Amino acid sequence: MLELRNEIKRIGESGIEMLHFDVMDGIFVNNITYGLPVLEMVRKATDLVLDVHLMITDPLKYVKRFAESGADIISFHTESRSDTLETIRAIHEAGAKAAVAIKPATPAEEVFRFLPEVDMVLVMTVEPGFGGQSFIPECTDKVRKVREEIKRLGLDIDVEVDGGINSSTAGEVIEAGANVLVSGSYLFKADDMKKAAASLKAGSVC
Ligand code: ZN
Repeated sequence: MLELRNEIKRIGESGIEMLHFDVMDGIFVNNITYGLPVLEMVRKATDLVLDVHLMITDPLKYVKRFAESGADIISFHTESRSDTLETIRAIHEAGAKAAVAIKPATPAEEVFRFLPEVDMVLVMTVEPGFGGQSFIPECTDKVRKVREEIKRLGLDIDVEVDGGINSSTAGEVIEAGANVLVSGSYLFKADDMKKAAASLKAGSVC
């Protein structure tokens, strides 16, 4: 816990604005991560925006509890078993911002009809499940399509990218229309997290 608190302090001091929190259930993706108790601890340790990414089979069942445990933004996958619109509504009712997420194999068009309902779209730029993977270049085009549709509809929605983001991939996704960048390995392995975060330019990272 002390180590976690120190790490959160280091993140807060490096100019990062959000903490991205991956939740995996071992079924929707082939890995298991922390859940509600850890989120509650993190919430107590920081005022940073907590961006919770649910990679779980039935998010609708859990969104209320994640919101109560401190999530400011909750992302869930359209590929999950839950009804997308119902889940978006449940997140909003619980007082959090809602985002729909898509895996690399899912076309951009899949999120179009939900755009008027959500606060953010999360485009996965690696297959979800494990950190440290390489960015899939074809995903940049998907970011562009999502951003173009948001503009066409005259909406003001964030587009977040998650997976393989570092100083060499950040530029192209920002240019394509992403404004929230998730970065894990790149920041944590850097000698100077502040410098590494600045190199991603977008500001909203982790
Ligand atoms: Zn994530």
